[in-house]
Amino acid sequence: MGDRALDVASIRKDFPILEREIRGKPLVYLDTAASAQKPRAVLEAIQNFYQNSYANIHRGVYQLSAGATELYEGGRDDVQRFIGAKDRREIVFVRNATEAINLVAHTWAEKNLESGDEILITALEHHANIVPWQMLGERRGTKLRVAPIDANGDVVMESFEALLGERTKLLALTHVSNAIGTINPLKKMIELAQARGITVLVDGAQAVPHTRVDVAALGCDFYVFSGHKLYGPSGIGVLYGRLAMLEAMPPFMGGGDMIETVSFEQTRYAGVPQRFEAGTPDIAGVVGLSAAIRYVEGIGIEAIEAWEQTLLAHANRVLGAIPGLRMIGNARHKAGLVSFVLDGIHAHDVGTALDQAGIAVRVGHHCAQPLMEIFGVPATVRASFSLYNTPAEIDALAAALGETREIFG
Ligand SMILES: *Cc1c(COP(=O)(O)O)cnc(C)c1O
Repeated sequence: MGDRALDVASIRKDFPILEREIRGKPLVYLDTAASAQKPRAVLEAIQNFYQNSYANIHRGVYQLSAGATELYEGGRDDVQRFIGAKDRREIVFVRNATEAINLVAHTWAEKNLESGDEILITALEHHANIVPWQMLGERRGTKLRVAPIDANGDVVMESFEALLGERTKLLALTHVSNAIGTINPLKKMIELAQARGITVLVDGAQAVPHTRVDVAALGCDFYVFSGHKLYGPSGIGVLYGRLAMLEAMPPFMGGGDMIETVSFEQTRYAGVPQRFEAGTPDIAGVVGLSAAIRYVEGIGIEAIEAWEQTLLAHANRVLGAIPGLRMIGNARHKAGLVSFVLDGIHAHDVGTALDQAGIAVRVGHHCAQPLMEIFGVPATVRASFSLYNTPAEIDALAAALGETREIFG
């Protein structure tokens, strides 16, 4: 665990937006699972890049372009180090986790899966890890199988194992559930799949910002995440792929920057990762993501995780005392978020009432409609915690929920 305790007061000063007032009240931002706020280090890195170092990358012979290329490729090194990849070529820049999953569906899966082959997901998945596989099914006749969860929101391991069958070619699963916080026993699940020769893709959108991720130790084939949930800018994300996997994959989009040579008769594709980065990428996005990673490394991901667990325990205590509040998801291992309903009050009304108190939470199905269906609710209220949140903010949430109950109850 982190030997440095988190200095939250000073961390909060790093995030200019936290000084804002909403409806005359201090902003209480409890929606980091949807997107994280940005520290000054990220804002300044992007501003500085556009102001002083901007040019397109890779092709320029002049100093500015070489400098921009160095920043962009340096960002790849930062991501490699941060998620424990063995080789910098295993890091592909994309727009977000969604694009990364679609890339794998259109390249690796198109090449390797045929009609009747099965893709196993879990009942916890975000739409981003459901829909691309359904679309693949429409193109290729592959079948989607879903590992069930129990009433707490944990994957039922016996069923999971039983579903890893003869025809299973891909296990695509989330590391951490964005809707109810379940942390999957990933190492074990990957081992079970790989013992049967099944390829594994992990959706790490909710894990990378909150816990140490080591893709080499996990042994997965693909791992995806988005920069905007890691305090970086929106529009930049990462596909990690094991080098041998990426090298055997056809390109995704065609265009500039992904070729070796082009003639009208034939094109030779570039090696990895360039083969998957057609066109001018989000250069400033990579610069911002780099700054975000360094910011997180400066604080220490273990210290962040410990603080978020402290906040989760506090939330369980104070929210647990509110009559009529039902927690959705009580998994054995949970990330720093709570999903709940208030008896008899629609989640959207709760969200609107909280907004009046300056409290930003997410209400709805959290891009996980099938999961909501399992719990028999159309929507929940989700409060998600981050390095810049405080127990006092959770107390403010609890107080506002108490008032909401009185108004609607
Ligand atoms: C947010 C999220 C996604 C999608 O991320 P985008 O940045 O919208 O592409 C996928 N999976 C999980 C678990 C998420 O939380």
